[in-house]
Amino acid sequence: MTTTQPKQPPARVVVLTGASSGIGRAAAQELASRGHTLVLAARRADQLMALALELDASGTRVIAVPTDVTKPESRQYLVDLARGHFGHIDVLINNAGVTVERGWWWDDPDPLRVLRVNLEAPIELTRLVLPEMRSRGAGHIVNIGSVAGRAATNGIYSASKFGLRGFSLALRRELLGSGVDVSLIAPGFVKSEMTARARLPMPGPEVVARAVAGVLDRPQREVIVPGAYRALALLEAALPGLGDGLVRRLIRRRYDHS
Ligand code: NDP
Repeated sequence: MTTTQPKQPPARVVVLTGASSGIGRAAAQELASRGHTLVLAARRADQLMALALELDASGTRVIAVPTDVTKPESRQYLVDLARGHFGHIDVLINNAGVTVERGWWWDDPDPLRVLRVNLEAPIELTRLVLPEMRSRGAGHIVNIGSVAGRAATNGIYSASKFGLRGFSLALRRELLGSGVDVSLIAPGFVKSEMTARARLPMPGPEVVARAVAGVLDRPQREVIVPGAYRALALLEAALPGLGDGLVRRLIRRRYDHS
C-alpha cells in the first residue's frame, strides 16, 4: 500500500530586513525552520552573523548581509549579493523599522529618519526587486506595517505606517495578474527592543513571525496580528472619538514614565 505524503509548500529565497532583533529575528527562525533560504539584513553585523550561524551552520541556506536600508548603495549591495548567491529573490520582507522612543517626535533632532527607514527604504527596495519579479511573473513583497497605520498615535510613526499601508494596498492592486503578490502584516504591540519600555501586556514576536510564514504560503491583502487588534481597527474606523480618549490615556502614561 502506498501512502501519500502531505504536499510541502515550496521553499523560497527570502530577503528579510531588520533581522537582528525582535520580529525580524523571530521571523528568520520561523522561516528557517520551514526550509526557506534566507538573506538576513540589518546594521548590527555581530547579531546578524550569530543568527545566520545559529540557523544554518553550513552557511549554504542562510547568509547575513550587514545593511543600512537608508543607504542606496547598501540596498543595492544587499539585492546584488542575494541574487549573486541564490540566483533570484522570491520574497522581499520589509521589516526594518524605527520609532521615536522618548519624548515628542517634534523634539527629536531627526524625526524624518523614521520615514526613511519605515517608508522610503521599503519603496526603494521594492523598486530594486520588482523588475526581475515582474519579468519572471513570480514574487512576493511582504511589508510589516502596524496597527499604528490604522489607528493614529505617534505623528511621525503613524505617518510612516499609514504610508506603508497605502503603498502596500495600492501596489497589490497595481500588480494584480502579474504573478507578483503583495501582503501587509499589521502587528499590534508585541515584545521587542522597540517596545522594551512599554508597560503593556504583550505576546512575544513569534505571533507575528507565524503570520509572516503564513502569508508566504497564502498571500493576503492585510493581516492584523494578534487578532484582538482587529476589533480595535474596526472601532477606530467606526468611532474615532473613542480612540481619542484611549490614545490620550496611553500617551499620558508614556510621558509620565519617560
Ligand atoms: P526591533 O527594534 O526589535 O527591530 C527593528 C529592526 O530594524 C532591527 O533588526 C534593526 O536592526 C532594524 N533596523 C533599524 N534601522 C535600520 C536600518 N537603518 N537599516 C537596517 N535595519 C534597520 O523592533 P521590532 O522587531 O518590534 O520591529 C520590527 C518591525 O515591526 C518594525 O517595522 C516595526 O515598526 C514593526 N512593528 C512592531 C511592533 C511592536 O510592538 N514591536 C508593533 C507594530 C509594528 P539594526 O539596529 O541592527 O540595524
